[in-house]
Amino acid sequence: MASTATPSCPRCQIGHLQVGSATYSCVQQGVFLSVPNVPSWTCDICQYREFDFDALIRIEALVGQLGPASDADLQTAKRPPVDNEVIDKRPPRIKP
Ligand SMILES: [Zn+2]
Repeated sequence: MASTATPSCPRCQIGHLQVGSATYSCVQQGVFLSVPNVPSWTCDICQYREFDFDALIRIEALVGQLGPASDADLQTAKRPPVDNEVIDKRPPRIKP
């Protein structure tokens, strides 16, 4: 016989975690982040909620790419060299 029992709640030890989705909210690097429809499990008694670990990994990967540059990156950043051939081939500007 296959077991259809849902996981029990780690907080209240009475309820069972039901699969669903919820809005994941947090503050990352001083920026409020709200992500709707994140897979989660919610206790049917105490409303304790756990979010899907793989979904949190994906959110972290996206937010990590959008984070501000570090001071070291800003100090070592350089403008790309200007190609003189491109400047010479531009049409002359017409003054109004
Ligand atoms: Zn519970």
